[in-house]
Amino acid sequence: MNAEIIAVGSELLLGQIANTNAKFISTQLSELGINVFYHTAVGDNAGRLKDVIEIAESRSDLIIFSGGLGPTKDDLTKETIANHLGVPLVFDNVALTYIEEYFAQRGREMTENNRKQALVLEGSKVLANHHGMAPGMILEQNGRTYILLPGPPKEIEPMFQFEVKPKLAALLNDGGVIVSHVLRFYGIGEAELEVQVQDILDNQSNPTVAPLASDGEVTLRITAKANSENEAWDLIKAKEGEILNIVGEYHYGNNDDSLASKTVEMLLHNKLTISAAESLTAGLFQSELAEIPGVSSILVGGVVTYTEQAKVTQLGIEKSFLDEFGIVSSECAAAMASKVRQKFGTDIGIGLTGAAGPEPHDGQAAGTIWIGFSIGDSDPITRKLQLSGMRNTNRIRAVKLAFSYLMR
Ligand code: ATP
Ligand code: MG
Repeated sequence: MNAEIIAVGSELLLGQIANTNAKFISTQLSELGINVFYHTAVGDNAGRLKDVIEIAESRSDLIIFSGGLGPTKDDLTKETIANHLGVPLVFDNVALTYIEEYFAQRGREMTENNRKQALVLEGSKVLANHHGMAPGMILEQNGRTYILLPGPPKEIEPMFQFEVKPKLAALLNDGGVIVSHVLRFYGIGEAELEVQVQDILDNQSNPTVAPLASDGEVTLRITAKANSENEAWDLIKAKEGEILNIVGEYHYGNNDDSLASKTVEMLLHNKLTISAAESLTAGLFQSELAEIPGVSSILVGGVVTYTEQAKVTQLGIEKSFLDEFGIVSSECAAAMASKVRQKFGTDIGIGLTGAAGPEPHDGQAAGTIWIGFSIGDSDPITRKLQLSGMRNTNRIRAVKLAFSYLMR
């Protein structure tokens, strides 16, 4: 089954919004093992939309539309499809009642164009919209499947998850199930990981294994089709075992895990508190930790000491020490880590210093980063990173590296 996504909306073409719906739908389809070969964006124009539909029909058997299901004049997706396919639009009673109740509950008058949202393609499966008024639709015609979804991401995401996905899984697998499991790796590049698991990637059928890299991390998504969940998990677990036998040392978590969440898990498990003194990352390390629920039992506090003076006044590092070793140095990272650990009375102190770029800093090349780890009363340990990314990428990588070392 080859899929194509058509995003409808002039605001996409004007650059006012990014086409995140296409990204979302593509991710979902890849989890199902469906190939997406084309993304198209088209304005709110019936003629051009019709052209795009015809092109899609010539090359795809699953065509998914996002946007243009609302009440206003520029919302013309279903009207154009109805016209093109020669399928009439009819009122869907469930959707109409939902819209009427929506207005009644709010004591607002319902205008005629709001009724229009309850019009659906005759013969389609209607998809309930629990976060808005316009329902979605799935229509099968001439051997193709047309899926119409609303534009707002908060409406499309649950609708896809709960209404579309099961239907597609059933279409693909005759009542079977499709289960996906994501393995997360850090400390190995995408190319290197692919080389190591080349045999597995070359000889895959069921389960399939798909690599993806972003922000210095690599994931492998394992997707299994089977007659039951248990059977699918058996296939996934066997494949996971094969993969981890080869690259297990870089594996840090699964699915929605992040380096930050696994770090918090480890600290909570070991009942260890932490604090951080941050220079180039200016609070990013602590901010990433703070995204994880339950972090307040382990993250005590920290300081942003961006300038040399702040390192002296806030952490009590001697100016002569900084003059001697430099700010971007192993010694400075170690001192920041142990000073902040003492200041906040934590088990672990982290010091992050470096030249984020694009210019060299303190005589050190852009991308030179030092991370200090002060753990209990033992001497601080430091790690050096030589990065070559953009300023912000370097800051993010520094934080990820700090997490990955903490987990070891
Ligand atoms: P509404 O009932 O809100 O009008 P609709 O189904 O008619 O919904 P649109 O009018 O096309 O959808 O878009 C509504 C809003 O949804 C847009 O203003 C935009 O914020 C968001 N949106 C639309 N298309 C996309 C897209 N492809 N990616 C991300 N967001 C989108
Ligand atoms: Mg609209």
